[in-house]
Amino acid sequence: RALVTLAGVAKRYATGTLALRDVSLAIGEGGFLALLGPSGCGKSTLLRMIAGLVAPSQGDISWPGGAAASRDIGFVFQEPTLMPWATALANVALPLELAGMPRREAEARAAAMLARVELKGFEKAYPRALSGGMRMRVSIARALVTRPRLLLMDEPFAALDEITRFRLNNDLLDLWQEERFTVVFVTHSVFESVYLAQRIAVMAARPGRITAELPIGAPYPRG
Ligand code: ADP
Ligand code: ADP
Repeated sequence: RALVTLAGVAKRYATGTLALRDVSLAIGEGGFLALLGPSGCGKSTLLRMIAGLVAPSQGDISWPGGAAASRDIGFVFQEPTLMPWATALANVALPLELAGMPRREAEARAAAMLARVELKGFEKAYPRALSGGMRMRVSIARALVTRPRLLLMDEPFAALDEITRFRLNNDLLDLWQEERFTVVFVTHSVFESVYLAQRIAVMAARPGRITAELPIGAPYPRG
């Protein structure tokens, strides 16, 4: 069943740009959907709309599971937006503390989450002391530590070198297969979309729209 449904969604920015036109899409619960398309086709706009950060100018976005589900979102951006003055552990614990969890418990969960992204031993490191790939791992841990049902990723690995990117792709697949959260993954890499996703929504620009939806099936068998 669908976690999120978009019906006839359009977005025109105040500048006049028609960023998206007539987008209809069902995001299946537990699935891994890639949004694939060139720069400017509205991928980020679509992702931010699903997150509730941008309002559609036309059409509807609905959450069949109820409004509570719509707040249950983790977001990972290309630039790891970590707090530079806080350790990896404190960065990951923050969403839990903001939700009212006592610090000791939040830090215990954050430490477990850091271990899940292969960062055991780096709890006390500051972001500037970590490599780009490690900072991305901290961002993923921070997005998943609250156990959201939906993980939105906006070209998360585009700035990383190929080997780091490949490792992160594999580790993301492992996490997804173990935890079964829903993923919407924005990329302009054909390889990445085919490797990761169960389903690909192909987009085109001017105006931004979905031109095809391709089922990929089960991801590459692992383990
Ligand atoms: P990318 O292709 O890496 O997504 P963009 O250049 O499309 O980068 O956009 C970077 C940021 O600038 C986005 O967050 C977007 O909201 C903003 N942006 C892009 N185009 C415009 C614009 N025409 N006017 C205002 N903000 C824009
Ligand atoms: P993508 O992520 O595929 O690169 P975006 O969603 O960032 O596409 O942008 C789609 C179109 O909307 C682009 O033409 C971009 O310049 C424009 N755009 C994006 N954000 C804004 C914004 N905040 N204000 C005005 N125009 C924007």
